[in-house]
Amino acid sequence: MPVFLNKDIADALCTVITLGYAYQRHANGRPLTFEYTAATPAEINEHRLLQDFLGRHGVNINVGPAASQDYMPYILGSDLPQNSLNTFINGLTQWSVQINNMFLAANAQNPPPRGAYIGVQFFADANGNMLRGNIANGQGGNFNADPLVYGPSALSLHKPIYRMITLLEEQGIGIAYYNARMSTNNAARAIANGLQVQPSTNFDTNYQEDHIFGSSHGMIRAMVNNVTPPPGIHSVFAEIALGGNTQKVSSCVPCAIFMESFGKPASSIHLGRGDNWRIPDNPTNGMLTNWQNVIVGCYVSGLAICNPAIAAYHATLDNIAAMIIAQHHAVGDILPEIPYLFLEALTFEDSFINRILRTLRP
Ligand SMILES: [Zn+2]
Repeated sequence: MPVFLNKDIADALCTVITLGYAYQRHANGRPLTFEYTAATPAEINEHRLLQDFLGRHGVNINVGPAASQDYMPYILGSDLPQNSLNTFINGLTQWSVQINNMFLAANAQNPPPRGAYIGVQFFADANGNMLRGNIANGQGGNFNADPLVYGPSALSLHKPIYRMITLLEEQGIGIAYYNARMSTNNAARAIANGLQVQPSTNFDTNYQEDHIFGSSHGMIRAMVNNVTPPPGIHSVFAEIALGGNTQKVSSCVPCAIFMESFGKPASSIHLGRGDNWRIPDNPTNGMLTNWQNVIVGCYVSGLAICNPAIAAYHATLDNIAAMIIAQHHAVGDILPEIPYLFLEALTFEDSFINRILRTLRP
């Protein structure tokens, strides 16, 4: 298997897929806002550059500040209509004691976890009222509607398929892996107190040379383990930004794309990092196919809107399809590989806004 994936191609691929996602949202008439957290002039400017670029190619998006963590420490994925979702958000205060306890426990860890997003599946009626405890399932039995807590990201180690790892990169990946492991375990410890977490996420596997690691985010873990409620009851998936060091309260691009494919779009999206993002190991075939299709759809749309413009900007992006085809496969075979190329592209750590501007800059 030829290894050809480098940072340039990885950034280009992430750019094409993100712009394709923006294009599809625009084409479907569903407004998209990319939110920034630290509203420094530089960061605002970077987002405006992207907004202008897309605007020049007929794709309108919004950019704006994310809600602060103090105000709303969670991201939601739900198919409830907005009115009902608002009711649900108000009702989340019923659960604020648990959230508060998790926060206190997280901040007491040494060090407090960073980037810790706790995935939860809640259940609500059609009006958005949160359900708790046993409720009638409409068939003479009961359904336990208590929230299902899935803990922080789950980590895993993999042999790369498309990228080669230099010795220097390997050191960096090893360090990033141990940091992620410590953060994940600290977050898992913080929520284990008083909450029924399923399954336990304590993770102690050592880094292995030549490996990359994957991080399955809490929201996606909750979705992949989806418990289907009885008819008339809705699922609301949430990711709770845990503790003072977990600041971004919007979904990363890879999560947003998965949530789209799952039919429960993200309440807010950022162009920060989705480093080492990985789909959990146990999705149903349907979920996996839907996710692959959405990634491929974004890639195709992204190439279509980018290509004329891209040649003027960056040779890498212009050539990405040709490069993959030439080194790999006959035309027509590359599309099924795009989702997995995308996953490995995410192991070259960087924020999405950096990847995009790096690719689009002349
Ligand atoms: Zn994410």
